[in-house]
Amino acid sequence: MRVLRMKGNSTIVPLATGAAVALVAGLLAGPLAGGAAAAAACAAAFSAAAAQTRRKAAALERLRRPELRATTTATVDSDCYSEVVGEAVRQLVRLSQDLDAAAAERTRLEARAHVRRRRLGLLESALDTGEHPLVVTDARDRVQFANAAARVLFAIDSASEAEEAATIELCPTVQRLVCETRSRSAAGDRRSIEWEHGDAADASAWRVTSTNVQDDDGEWLGVVTLFRRIDDERAQNTRHAEFVSSVCHELKTPLSGIRAYTEMLTDGDFDDPGQAAEIYGFIEQQVDRLTRLIDNMLNLARIESGVIKVEREDCELNDVLARSFEVVRQLADEKGLRLVSELSDLYVAVHLDRDLFGQAVINLLSNAVKYTPSGGEVRLKSRMLEGWAEIEVRDTGLGIPEESLPRLFERFYRVPENKTAAAGTGLGLALVHSIVTELHNGSLRVESKVGEGSAFTISIPLGHRSASRRKERPALAAK
Ligand code: ADP
Repeated sequence: MRVLRMKGNSTIVPLATGAAVALVAGLLAGPLAGGAAAAAACAAAFSAAAAQTRRKAAALERLRRPELRATTTATVDSDCYSEVVGEAVRQLVRLSQDLDAAAAERTRLEARAHVRRRRLGLLESALDTGEHPLVVTDARDRVQFANAAARVLFAIDSASEAEEAATIELCPTVQRLVCETRSRSAAGDRRSIEWEHGDAADASAWRVTSTNVQDDDGEWLGVVTLFRRIDDERAQNTRHAEFVSSVCHELKTPLSGIRAYTEMLTDGDFDDPGQAAEIYGFIEQQVDRLTRLIDNMLNLARIESGVIKVEREDCELNDVLARSFEVVRQLADEKGLRLVSELSDLYVAVHLDRDLFGQAVINLLSNAVKYTPSGGEVRLKSRMLEGWAEIEVRDTGLGIPEESLPRLFERFYRVPENKTAAAGTGLGLALVHSIVTELHNGSLRVESKVGEGSAFTISIPLGHRSASRRKERPALAAK
C-alpha cells in the first residue's frame, strides 16, 4: 500500500490498492509498450486514483468538523477502508473532545485568574485607602508592598518609586522590629513598639505592630507592619489625668471650707448668732458648688451615653433665664461684679427642658463671673429674631486667645492662660454645647478678645410645640 501525504495536513491517507496497481501498471506500461494506448491507460489510472484520494481527503476534512462528524461517519464508503477511516474518526473525535475539555478548563482557569486579579486589586485599593500606614516585608525584610499612607510616612511620593517597593527603606527602629518578628515566625506572632517619628518640632508618636502572616497551609508569607498614630491617645491620657486632678481639687476646696466651718460651729466658736448665720450661708454656698460640679459631670456623662431623660415643655424663655440669673447673683456680688439683666420685653415662646437649659445658662454666667476680675461687668441678654431666640452672656473679663477658641467646647479643655484665674474642670462649656446643640437643636458661638472680654451666644428655635400642633390639626382633619 502506498501513502500520500496531503499538503497542510498531517493525516496520512492510504491510496486504494487497485488504483495504485493500475497506476504502477500504467507507469510501467508507458515506456515499455511505448504506445498511445498504454499512455491513455496510464492517464486514466492516475486520474481515477487522484479522484479517490480527493474524495477521502474531503471525507476526512468533513470528519474534522464536529457539526458534520455524525453524518460523515455514517456515510464513509465501505470501500474506503472503513477500518482505517473508523480509527481516524475515533482518534479525531477523541482529539476533538480533548480539545473541548482543554478549552473549557482554560476558560475556567481564566475566569478564576480574573476573579483573583480583581480581588487582589480590591485588596490593594482597600489597603491603599486605609488611613493607617502599612507595609509588607519578605524573607529578607525588604518592603514588598507599602500603602499610600506608608508612602507618605516614609516620604516616598512619586508613584514610580512606590512601585519599586523593595527599595523603600524603613527606619532602623522599625527595621529591627520587622526582623525580630520574622525571626520568631510562629503563627500569628506579633510584636509592638512605640516609635517617635520626625524631629522634635514636628515629631509624631506611633504604635508600630509587626505580625507574621501565613497561608492556609501554614506556609510563611511575610511580615505585615501596621502603624497607628497615638498622639491623640497620649493627649487624651494626659487630659484625663488633668481632669481627675481638677475634679479632686474642685471637690476638695469646698469640702475643706465646709469642714473648717462645721468644726468652728461644733466647737461653739460663735457667740454672735449673726456670725453663725453667715457661716451657715457659706456652707450652703459650698454645698451648691459641689452639687453643680457633680451635676455637670453626671449630665455630661448621661448626654454622651444617651441615657438622659429630656423633658422639654412649652415655656417662656425669660422665666428660665431669670432663675439662672438669680443663682449666680450672690457669686457676682461677692466678687464685686456688676450683674446686669437685659431681657426681651416680649413673650419669648420656646420649647425646652427648663432644668437642663437653665443649667447651661448658669454655666455661662458662672464662667463669666469666674473669669472677670472684680469691678467688671457680666450682662445677660435675650432677644427674639425671625424664627430664633437668642441668649447672650457678655463679660468684660480676661478674654480668650484666638488659638483656644476652636477647642473651647472640647471636654476637659481649659485655656492655659486663664487656668490660674479660677479653678475648673473644663467640663462646663462641653456640657453647655451638648445641651444646646444635641438636646435643643440650637447653636452656640463665642466671640472674645484678650483683655476686653467674651460674649457667648446661644440660638434656639422659637415657638411652642403645642401651638404648632394646634395649627397642624385642621390640615390633618381635612384629609
Ligand atoms: P472650667 O471648669 O475650667 O471653667 P469650662 O468648660 O466652663 O471649664 O471652660 C473652659 C475654659 O474656657 C475655662 O477653663 C476658661 O479658660 C475658658 N473660659 C470659659 N468661659 C470664659 C470666659 N467667660 N472668659 C474667659 N475664659 C473663659
